[in-house]
Amino acid sequence: MEQNVRVRFAPSPTGPLHMGGVRTALFNYLFAKKHNGSFILRIEDTDQARYVEGAEQYILDSLQWCGLTIDEGVSVGGKHQPYRQSERKDIYKQFAEKLIANGSAYFAFDTPEELETIRKEKESDGKTFSYDAHIRSALTNSFNLPANEVKQRIDSGQPYVIRFKMPENRDIQLHDLIRGDVTFNTSTLDDKVLYKSDGLPTYHLANVVDDHLMEISHVIRGEEWLPSLPLHFLLYEALGWHEDIPDFAHLPLLLKPSGKGKLSKRDGDKLGFPVFPLQWNSADGEVAKGYREDGYFPEAFINILALLGWNPGTEQEIFSMDELINAFDMERVGKAGARFDPEKAKWFNQHYLKQKPDTELAELFIPSLKEKGIETDLEYTAKVISLVKERVQFVHEIWDQAYYFFQAPREYDAKVVKKKWKENTSTDLKSIIGVLQQTENFTSAQTELAVKKHIEEKELHLGNTMNAIRLAIVGQAMGPHLFDIFELIGKNETIARLQKAIDSLG
Ligand code: GLU
Repeated sequence: MEQNVRVRFAPSPTGPLHMGGVRTALFNYLFAKKHNGSFILRIEDTDQARYVEGAEQYILDSLQWCGLTIDEGVSVGGKHQPYRQSERKDIYKQFAEKLIANGSAYFAFDTPEELETIRKEKESDGKTFSYDAHIRSALTNSFNLPANEVKQRIDSGQPYVIRFKMPENRDIQLHDLIRGDVTFNTSTLDDKVLYKSDGLPTYHLANVVDDHLMEISHVIRGEEWLPSLPLHFLLYEALGWHEDIPDFAHLPLLLKPSGKGKLSKRDGDKLGFPVFPLQWNSADGEVAKGYREDGYFPEAFINILALLGWNPGTEQEIFSMDELINAFDMERVGKAGARFDPEKAKWFNQHYLKQKPDTELAELFIPSLKEKGIETDLEYTAKVISLVKERVQFVHEIWDQAYYFFQAPREYDAKVVKKKWKENTSTDLKSIIGVLQQTENFTSAQTELAVKKHIEEKELHLGNTMNAIRLAIVGQAMGPHLFDIFELIGKNETIARLQKAIDSLG
């Protein structure tokens, strides 16, 4: 029988969620759905110093925009609530006490200043300082102080931390679903702080306790947490939970477009792409770009993220969420960092744009027309979009490709005028106006027939005449089939534009 899959996305509300964070959420979600499991959102907010107002709401909004529905957790509740760690303070205390009682952890009273002094001394000797087995016997902690003094210090309210007693020289072999067997030697690890006298646990303790209590079956998270894995294992062991330790999968990093180094916000700023799902307005007035505000469809964003580190093993690139759920397999997640390609991201958006019904795109586009003071209707706008959607990657690019459907050109491209407007052009266009006036049924096909027949009969230059008409209608040498434009803007407008061009260029 399949195991009861329960996975969690456990972000810390320290700022806007990076796209790498959304990728972690996505892989958790896909894994959960694939195995009929639950996707849990836990907010890890025990580090008060790094807490950022609004970050939790940002996380919720981002997941919602991406269609990553939470089964259990912050904002929806569930059988293990609360899911915000700051509301679970009392839970962690008893486990910190348990670790002290069974000798896996100890009280340490060294002040930050004292530790800083030792660090400096070590560094001036060319050594690094780490609070570990070699040094703990020389510091101010419950190893070295008599029991009654420890008690007295605590009772008198002296600040302390509880540290994990990292065993010396123990090889720990662990399995990662993506990386296979990984071995750590504890001699390289320090005595991490688990709990502080302010009543709050650190990430390590809170994370392990909650994963256990919330019955998490698989921990799927970023590669940056791999070095914490041996400590987490030892905590499970020390708390007596190692029999049902979750499975672990550490996802590969997202790399810069150059492939060198971790993808950062600065890369986005430099190359002009967002690294956050939604726009973020920070308290100091800084604005960070978001995929949503830049005009990406959530389906495209999800599709882009899915292929960063995972591959289906086939040539298929376009995946709906349901297809992803079906195809997703942790075995096909790679170890190597995944290079982000901003051009490919646009390509995905273009794909989804082309697939959208014209009326849906029109609904998205009309507000920007209203802002320009242009009143139009859905049906007309949808028809316009059907003619230009092949040429754009984003809804906001439609205007540049289609403005002439909503207003007469205000100027004519000087280069085109110079090249295409000949001496006889005004006369030729006048005769075309005459033909159009007589065309009753002003459809694309009818006008094309009439105009081409006229050009042939009068032996006008086909290319030159058509170019001049286009210049009059569009203002430039671009756009879809000319007679399709005629049909949409209508007889009066077509004739008016030809006349205007004759008046101003003739
Ligand atoms: N709170 C951690 C973070 O912000 C979660 C790491 C984990 O999933 O264990 O990334």
